[in-house]
Order: sequence, then C-alpha cells, then structure tokens
Amino acid sequence: MVRETGYYDILGVKPAATSEEIKKAYRKLALKYHPDKNPSEGEKFKLISQAYEVLSDSKKRDLYDQGGEQAIKEGGMGGGNFSSPMDIFNMFFGGGGRMHRERRGKNVVHQLSVSLEDMYNGTTRKLALQKNVICEKCDGYGGKKGALEKCSNCKGRGVQIQVQQIGPGMIQQIQSMCVECQGQGERFSSKDRCKTCNGHKVERKKKILEVHVDKGMKDGQKITFHGEGDQEPGLEPGDVIIVLDQKEHAVFHRQEDDLIMKMEIKLVEALCGFKKTIRTLDNRILLISSPPGKVIKHNDIKCVQSEGMPVYRDPYEKGQLIIQFLVTFPQNGWLPPHMLPKVEALLPPRDELMITDDMEEVNLTEIDHESQRRSYSGEAYEEDEGPRPGVQCQTQ
Ligand SMILES: [Zn+2]
Ligand SMILES: [Zn+2]
Repeated sequence: MVRETGYYDILGVKPAATSEEIKKAYRKLALKYHPDKNPSEGEKFKLISQAYEVLSDSKKRDLYDQGGEQAIKEGGMGGGNFSSPMDIFNMFFGGGGRMHRERRGKNVVHQLSVSLEDMYNGTTRKLALQKNVICEKCDGYGGKKGALEKCSNCKGRGVQIQVQQIGPGMIQQIQSMCVECQGQGERFSSKDRCKTCNGHKVERKKKILEVHVDKGMKDGQKITFHGEGDQEPGLEPGDVIIVLDQKEHAVFHRQEDDLIMKMEIKLVEALCGFKKTIRTLDNRILLISSPPGKVIKHNDIKCVQSEGMPVYRDPYEKGQLIIQFLVTFPQNGWLPPHMLPKVEALLPPRDELMITDDMEEVNLTEIDHESQRRSYSGEAYEEDEGPRPGVQCQTQ
C-alpha cells in the first residue's frame, strides 16, 4: 500500500501507474514547464523532475511507496540529493552520447501531436521553427572587422560593479554582467555595428522542418534533426528533437503493435451469431462474423491477425487487432411477462432449487455506490470513479 502520493500527484498519475504511464506523464509535463517555454515555472519544473527521478527507478519507487518522501531523503538518495532537472531532461530527451561534447549549443525539444491514423499510414508534417542563425552579413562577427573597441562602460572587464549603501558606514558591492557589451568587454561603436543583426552576431529566422512520421512509429518516439538547433558563433549547433505525442483515438487503443477495441453486441448477437463491420485506420471496412451456434460471452476477447499497427521499419508486418466484446442485455421489462416462458423454453434449463422452511428470505436491492465508496475510503486508495470489480451493476 502506498503511504504518500505527492510524487504521483505532481506527475498526475495514479499510484498503480505503469512505468510507461510515468514516462509519458513526465514527457508531457517536462516539455510544458521547461524553462525555455515557461521561464517563470522553474520550481514546478524541478518538482516534476524530482518526482520522475524517484518514480522511474523501481528501487526508489518501492522505497517511496513504503516510506514516503522521508525515506527517500534519509536513505535512498544519499541525503536527498536529486540530479539537476536539466540533466534528467537531457537524459530523457536524448542527444544521447553527444551530451558531453563541449562547445555545443543546446538541444531544442518540440512535441508534435499526431493521430493514430498518422502513425498507421505514415505522414509528413511541416513544422515552422524560429531559430538563431549566424548573421550572413557580418559572418557572425557583429560589425566591421577590426573595429571592435574596448567597452567604455565596463572598461573592458565585462562586468559592472554597483555600490549600494546598506547601513550607516556599510556598503555592499554588487557585481553584474555589463549590459552595454553583454559581458564581452568589447563592442562596436554604433557606426561600425552590423545593421542586419544589430551587433548580436545572430539573426532570428524562420526554418521549416519536414518531419517524416514513418508507419508504425510510436508515442514518445524521437526524431532528431542533427545540427538544426540555434547557431551561435564558435559553437557547434545543437539538435532539434521532435517527440511524437499520439492523440487518443476514439475507437482503438494501441498496445505496442496491437490495436485493441471494444465492441458492443446485443444479446441476440451473442447467442445467435452476427456480422459486424470495423473501419480501419486506413479507411478500409473489415467484415467480421460469428457463426450461429457460437456463443460470445461478455468480455470475451477475439482477434484478427495482421490488422494491428504496422511494425516500425517493417511496415508490411502488422500486429493483431484485438476485440473485446461487451454484451448488451435487454432493458428491464423488455418482454411482457406472459411471453417469458417462450424464451425460457428455448434457453438451457435452470437448476432446480429445493426450498425448505429453515431458509431466510431476504430482499435483493440495487447497490448504493456512494455508501460502498465511503466504506472503502481510508482503507485503500481511490482507484477510479466507476464501480469496483465485483460490484458491477447488472443493469446494462
Ligand atoms: Zn550581422
Ligand atoms: Zn561592457
């Protein structure tokens, strides 16, 4: 049983979440609250990172589930030292192996929302990005060659010193980066400064990336554009990393290469056979049938071979389509009582019951879900809103 749910709450997952669900939650939140996109949410970004660091490691997660944050601080993390949120982010979003290379601009991560149809059929999406490119006019120099002058504001030191009186006879010196030369110590006079980039050496330009979503690509998959990150003089540009984010589909749920769907069938179909159609993700119509005499029970699972998702990089190979049947029973009073014997005559016979005097006759009533819930709370974590297994209503 889980003692605390704080880390789960931060990631917005249930304590029973799979490691896949935890990864996905981190991915979405980390991109949303990354300081590049949300500079005022640094604290939130840090919390997301810490929660993920604990919950993504099965040992730390066990420790947390048993002893809460206290246990993590005392034992599990060597005195509660978390990795830096940026390290966790970079580790997660990759540039793997290239991370330690010096003199390299940072990677930029973007999320691209795609439908399950896109991942089934493959597609190309155009993504417009703003990025810094080295100014062509001045070649990233910032102005006329040889015209760089010592900054008069900071006298070439690149820093400004401010003196503040903080009490009688007490002064404090605050050192900060020189705003005139951006800490460079040198600058161009306005007449020598490059007019195109205004001395900034780089320009903001729009760049269109063509993102090829291949058949069978998965939610969370990364597509890397090497060297397409921001350019900066003297630095090798970082990468642009596109992370695919699959939208939920109304009918199909994907599990690896399989597609899972629920299909409602009527009682008559469950007992007497049926023909049904399914529209596929590439808009074909499949006809499935169950022959008369074959009984499909509620929650029965059947599958269709090779109608799942295409396998990434082997798209002629496909997973299975898994269908879970939900049998819809008729409503109360669907048949006048005098006709019921006709139905009964056709159904398998019921078991005979011998009623004796020592039996106590009691009332069978509907379950009150509200009071059920109350009696459970405090004993177990609230799993979901729906009825619990075992108390499922038969009115459907
Ligand atoms: Zn320029
Ligand atoms: Zn200066």
